[in-house]
Amino acid sequence: MTHVYLLPGTAGYLLIDAGPRGCAEIFARSIRRYGISSRQIRLILVTHVHFDHVGSLQAIQEKSGAPVLVHQAEAGLLCQGKVVLPPGTQPLTRRLIRFANRHPRLVKRLFRFDPVSPDRVITAPLDLTPFGFDARVLPTPGHTAGSLSVITPSGQAFVGDLAVNYLPGGRGPFWPPFGDSRRLIRGSWQTLRNQGVTTIYPAHGRPFKAEKLPQFSIPEVENKNRS
Ligand SMILES: [Zn+2]
Ligand SMILES: [Zn+2]
Repeated sequence: MTHVYLLPGTAGYLLIDAGPRGCAEIFARSIRRYGISSRQIRLILVTHVHFDHVGSLQAIQEKSGAPVLVHQAEAGLLCQGKVVLPPGTQPLTRRLIRFANRHPRLVKRLFRFDPVSPDRVITAPLDLTPFGFDARVLPTPGHTAGSLSVITPSGQAFVGDLAVNYLPGGRGPFWPPFGDSRRLIRGSWQTLRNQGVTTIYPAHGRPFKAEKLPQFSIPEVENKNRS
């Protein structure tokens, strides 16, 4: 359900996100098919602390021994294994989240993840060259307060849930169905455009050309349904 990405560097790989709970073995088998072992992962970047991105983080981190990097705004959630659901951005998803928030125990059980203490916490853009990767990390808030994107010099952007593209028949990309702030999401899209990004790699769905981002029709009203 969640794409994770491996970016090659001079001495190993950068892993972007860790997928839902229970996927560490599938992940290890998958990368073995490419001749990659868990120990070759040198850094794990968490785009944001939602269950479908950090569910297998603890297990993958243990196998790889790689340091974990996260935005400061979500480091506490990661340390505590705290489940947070973002508000819906559409009527249907808003209803879904209202329902979920009435059943906190169920939410906690369904979306739980093992806590992880991050090794590096950031609040500002970070050059990954010293880590051996030709890439930069940018704060791109909106889906969550601490959402991060990884950008390469060739114009690739790995954006977590800042945009999604999973509808069949080429319909999409589209607005993330869940998110903290429409205004901030739109601002972060502009940040990506300003950086000359050409291809967006979402965590949910297929990669798409960045020029498709402005075609969204976005209501101006800020989401009031915060959980
Ligand atoms: Zn998310
Ligand atoms: Zn997600």
